Parts: sequence; C-alpha cells; structure tokens
Amino acid sequence: MVDAPLIKVEPPGPKAKEILERDEKLLMQSFVRWYPLVIERGDGFIVEDVDGNRYIDFNSGLAVLNVGHNHPRVLNALKEMLGKITHYSLTDFYYREAVDLAEKLVSIAPMGGDKKVFYGNSGAEAIEACIKISRGHFRNKRPYLIAFYGAFHGRTMGANSLTASKPVQHRWFAPMLPCVIHAPYPYPYRCPFNTDDPIECGEQALAFIEDYILGKYVHGDEVAAIFFEPIQGEGGYVVPPDNFLPGLRKLADEYGILLVDDEVQSGMGRTGKWWAIQHWNVEPDLVAIAKAIASGLPLSAVVGRAEIMDLERGSHATTFGGNPIACRVGSEVIRIIEEEGLLENASRVGEYIMKRFRELQDHLEIIGDVRGKGLMIGVELVRNRETKEPAKKELAKVINESFKRGVLVISAGLSTLRIAPPLNITIEAVDKAFEIIESILKEVDKEVKAR
Ligand code: PLP
Repeated sequence: MVDAPLIKVEPPGPKAKEILERDEKLLMQSFVRWYPLVIERGDGFIVEDVDGNRYIDFNSGLAVLNVGHNHPRVLNALKEMLGKITHYSLTDFYYREAVDLAEKLVSIAPMGGDKKVFYGNSGAEAIEACIKISRGHFRNKRPYLIAFYGAFHGRTMGANSLTASKPVQHRWFAPMLPCVIHAPYPYPYRCPFNTDDPIECGEQALAFIEDYILGKYVHGDEVAAIFFEPIQGEGGYVVPPDNFLPGLRKLADEYGILLVDDEVQSGMGRTGKWWAIQHWNVEPDLVAIAKAIASGLPLSAVVGRAEIMDLERGSHATTFGGNPIACRVGSEVIRIIEEEGLLENASRVGEYIMKRFRELQDHLEIIGDVRGKGLMIGVELVRNRETKEPAKKELAKVINESFKRGVLVISAGLSTLRIAPPLNITIEAVDKAFEIIESILKEVDKEVKAR
C-alpha cells in the first residue's frame, strides 16, 4: 500500500517555516527553489517533510535517487563502510572500492573496447575532466569545443561555458572559456529550423555544424570534442530525432572529433537503458556520469576509451574524487538496478505514464507535447496548440498545487513538466500522483480556455 500523499498541515508547516527563515538569512540565495519543501526523510518513492507531510516523489532529488530513498542495500553498504575508512585520497593512494566500481562501470559503459575511468565529485567536475581529457588527448592541437543551445553541463567555469539553457547562467561571469561554439539542438516540437518534420530537423542540425561551424568558422581538425546530452535535461527533456545522434557520430568520425556524451541526468538506467545514447545504438568516446551513480553521495565518473584517457601523470586529479564510501555504494547501486530489474520497470512504468498523459492530451488543449524515454518524461504545456505559446504561469500553478496536494514535481525548459521518479516506482503510486496532476491540469486548462 502507498501511504502517500498525506498532507497533515498545509506546507510550509510551522517547522518548515522556521528553517526557511534561517536558510534565507544564512545561505547565499543563488539558486531557485521550486517550492518551500523542507525535507526530513525519504523512503523509496516517498518523501516526508519536517512537519510530517508525505509526498510521492516525481523528482528523485533531481534524478539522483534512481534506486529510491534509503534503499536497504544502500544502507547496508554504508554500514559496511562506516568505521572502516572515510577518506584517504585516491589522487595519491589506492582503494579496492574505486577499482571494484570502475570494473562495474566499464562493464556497462556504452562503448566497446578497452576503457578507463576517472572519478570526480559532481556532474560539473566530470564535464571539466572531459574538457581536459579531450583537449589534452590532442596535446592542445585542437582547442575548439562544440556544444548545443539548450544544453546544461554544470556551473563551474568550463562546464558553464558549454551550458546554454538560460542567459542568467552567464550574466556577470564573462568571459567564458574561449574556443567554445554552440549549435542549435534539434528540438522536434520547436525545431530551430522551422520544420515540423523531425528527421528534417535532425538533418538541418547536422548540416548547421558542417556547413556553418566547420564550413565558415573553424577547421574540423581544430575541434577536439562535441559535447551533447542524448536527451536534453534542463533544456526541456528534449528527445532528439532518430537520425541526429547516428549522424553526429558520422560527422565526428569524418573530422576525427571526439563525442562526449553527458549522461549526468539521463544515465544510470533513467531512460530504461543504462545510457540514453543506447536508444540510438551510438557509441561515444567519453561518457560523463554523476547524479544517480552513488544514490546521493557526492561522486561522478568519466568513462572513456582507454586510448583517449591518456592525460600525463600530475595533470589532473582531485582530493575527494572516488571517495571509498561513495564508490562502495556506487557498486551496490549498479547491482540493485541489475538484480531488481529496474531498467525494465523504468521502461514499463514510463510507457504507462506517457500513455496516460497522451490520453489526457486528447482532452486538454494545454498539453502540447508528451515525450521521453523510460522515466525521463517531459509534458510540455502551451497556451495555444497552434502558436505553441509556452504556458509558463500555468505550469507554475501545476507545480505548486501538486506540492500542496502531495506530489513533488518540477519543470524543465520553458514550460515542460519534468517527470523523473525513482526507477522502482509502482503503477499504484503513479496512479495516485497522476490523479492529482490530472485534476490540476484540468483546472488550468479551463482557465486558459476561459481567457
Ligand atoms: N550535466 C547534466 C546533463 C546535468 O543535468 C547536470 C546537473 O543538473 C550537470 C551536468 C551538472 O551536474 P552537477 O550539478 O552535479 O554539477
């Protein structure tokens, strides 16, 4: 039985309010909080706030808790490590746990041949490493990097230079890293090349790189790498057309450019396969992994073809990267996903969620597009199906009302509801959450129609 949602006191309750006040006073407010949720604990796909309200979690702590909150096997792995060692720096010495996890990562990585692993602490740090690995591999003979509009690769200066989903990410921080060029990402519902044909959209996006970037700005042999998200996350849960990633691989091969696959959000089984890129049978050269890798403990990894992971000794490292407790948990997370059939569950439940939203789309004008793979699902809200005007205010209402009624969900892009529950969520829990979101969507749809 799913004993959520359970709203005992309208959030934020009194205990939450007290913490919100202290937070406002003490923490730099450079981030945008979605709603005043103050968390006490989590259990599976349920989150409880400090006032005892219980919510169904469609966020997974931002695509991190793929195996759910407090999975008993994660807790056991933690217990096994506590009292053993907390840290001794993989940069300078060795741990068994780091090698064990590397073996696992290499075995599930989306490319063939020999592979090597580098550990960091966050998604941004994995991307920083990819920048250094790809430029370093070419011994700086290829200084240029290509990334996409709509991309989110992190907030540190290198990763932020590749990121391009909102102007606020760059305002006041210029100059960004030099030699970064952005290209339009093929977003089928809003194709930047003004076509409704997804395949043509994919072709145009590839042609832009070849004809404009490589044809008019920089020689292909000066470009080290193309960074991409196989499904754009913060940019709006955008699934590219089927010809795009295979075409990108072909283009990169023609010019000897590396493909860096950012699976920080889409990886670790979220889309029903270990890596989103596997939906298109494309092999990258480097893959960046973070978020769900260690169930919330700070850890990231880059897995790359061994011949590319060739930075010289002393040229890259980090004190905390590959923490032994995080690595031990990381190995357990992979085993849980394998042994509990979570890839299959993500595909099955994801299809079910998309089917329910598509059925609703037949009745509600406000649902412009439903897209996704596995449990990485975007439901784009529009004020008008013809003009596709983003329904930003309406989306804010859906998110805030869902919170008040016991469902945790957020958005991505301009007006896309972002659905990313733990991979072991049940149909019963989904039905309960869906019913709440559905009733709010019906309310806002009525309001838009009445305008
Ligand atoms: N890459 C992608 C695709 C992301 O979604 C994120 C974070 O949301 C990052 C990189 C940055 O990860 P982190 O916040 O751990 O630095």
